[in-house]
Amino acid sequence: MKTIGLIGGMSWESSIEYYRIINETTKAKLGGLHSAKSLMVTVDFAEIEKLQHEDRWDEAGQILAKCAQDLERGGADFIVLCTNTMHKLTDQITANVKIPFLHIADATAEKIVAAGMKKIGLLGTRFTMEHDFYKGRLIQNFGLEVLVPGEADRQIIHRVIFDELVQGKILDASRAKFKRIMESLAAQGAEGIILGCTEIELLVKQKDSRVPLFATTSIHAIAAVEYALK
Ligand code: GLU
Repeated sequence: MKTIGLIGGMSWESSIEYYRIINETTKAKLGGLHSAKSLMVTVDFAEIEKLQHEDRWDEAGQILAKCAQDLERGGADFIVLCTNTMHKLTDQITANVKIPFLHIADATAEKIVAAGMKKIGLLGTRFTMEHDFYKGRLIQNFGLEVLVPGEADRQIIHRVIFDELVQGKILDASRAKFKRIMESLAAQGAEGIILGCTEIELLVKQKDSRVPLFATTSIHAIAAVEYALK
């Protein structure tokens, strides 16, 4: 079994989910008293969030590259970054370590392609929905067509993530907004929807959408176990 190296804290509300899913999946696969070998380095999300919103991505990248080096030195066999947004800094992280990096968008896209879907909705932070690092990877590497909500709805999603979900607030009123936005993406032809922020699956479940949901925390955590056991 390989040792999974997790970069967590973005936010810790979803890092807990990674830890739980990774261990539950390991137990389900191996039975008995088995659990996952893992290391987690967590950041102070207040520092990261400030750098994101001040567009100081390079400094955030330096922090995450240091986390990755700490994991490598600590004996991790590969790296799992427990946030979609910070995959914007993938190159800066991977340039500083020798161990492999399990990309969240790749793990998710593989599931979408396996499900035979082409046109997919994407919900996440403003950075994930608007910048190219995530959509571009889905389009160029997996041939997907990506739909994001309009400007007003992107603002709602971003606000709910930062004012509520990363602070552990799960509100019915926000779930209703997400349901309306997901329905609108489905009406525009999305065959499935990526919950492309690791806290969204705390708010929204499959029953809230008429098209299949691709929950990135669960997909990424399970992919980590599969890789660890390969
Ligand atoms: N966890 C979120 C994500 O998956 C948002 C927090 C962050 O900006 O890292 O994108």
